[in-house]
Amino acid sequence: RSKRAHGRLQEVVVGDEPTTPGRLNLSIELNAALSQKQFELYYQPIVAADTREVVAFEALVRWRHPTRGIVTPIAFIPTAEETGLIVPIGAWAMREAALQTAAWTRAAGKPVWVSVNISAAQLSEPGFLEHVAQVIAETGVDPTLLKLEVTEGTIIGDPELAAEILTGLRDLGIRLCMDDFGTGYSNLSYLQTLPFDFLKVDRAFVKSMIDRFESRTILRTMMALAQQLELEVVAEGVESPEQADELARLGCHFLQGFLYGKPMPADLAGALVMGTP
Ligand code: C2E
Ligand code: CA
Ligand code: CA
Ligand code: CA
Repeated sequence: RSKRAHGRLQEVVVGDEPTTPGRLNLSIELNAALSQKQFELYYQPIVAADTREVVAFEALVRWRHPTRGIVTPIAFIPTAEETGLIVPIGAWAMREAALQTAAWTRAAGKPVWVSVNISAAQLSEPGFLEHVAQVIAETGVDPTLLKLEVTEGTIIGDPELAAEILTGLRDLGIRLCMDDFGTGYSNLSYLQTLPFDFLKVDRAFVKSMIDRFESRTILRTMMALAQQLELEVVAEGVESPEQADELARLGCHFLQGFLYGKPMPADLAGALVMGTP
């Protein structure tokens, strides 16, 4: 993020089309948005690579702005992280996702997994584990259906604290996914020593895999690594059937991307998992 973006609404998306950047005091607006319940979770389907059936969703926050329409998280998550507002926003998102997971699993009569993105500030907030335990107790969600996605960047600030919290989460039954794998330091020791269950290959590798031999080679290496460490692999940014087939052939377990659906409101997402026994 450029320094100039601080405190500004950097990019606004209405529907799919970016509109002109707004200039406003974003952190004040975010506070108001939180108390006025303007945040919403959208859900993007994740399919099993073998059956191509929807088995899970990634919860992605949206801001339903009273005049600007639906605002993308790219426009406000960085400011929310800088101001610490990501803590209450993230807490809301987790509770909301847990309620939705429990409701879908009940209504569909089969497990529906939901992943939620977690920022560094949330993970290092005192009482985070107690908060998660409370969400599980109050929503009645099966914790093994909740997946928390963390990036390497989240761990790197304080690896010891991250290890303690991640282990605590795993003890609560929560599943952990290393997000955006391959884009950061790709410090393999984290994958080995921390209790991850899933590795999510970043969109960048999927994007170039058909055209670039190198990307396919890196993907193959990541798959071998995941297999050695007994991690299941999710590929994000799958946009074409060619990518999907190649990823499945390479041994990828789950596929996520516009090919199977964009992030969508909960009612539309729910329809994808209902009524298919
Ligand atoms: P992410 O965790 O890497 O999420 C995946 C992003 O890729 C989403 O963007 C999704 O809409 C987009 N995407 C999915 N499939 C495709 C595809 O096939 N092609 C392309 N071009 N893009 C695809 P989105 O929803 O704008 O979210 C952006 C980022 O904002 C997320 O990246 C995540 O880092 C952050 N974010 C979203 N919701 C939350 C949240 O509740 N908490 C936190 N801490 N961060 C969040
Ligand atoms: Ca993610
Ligand atoms: Ca990503
Ligand atoms: Ca990410």
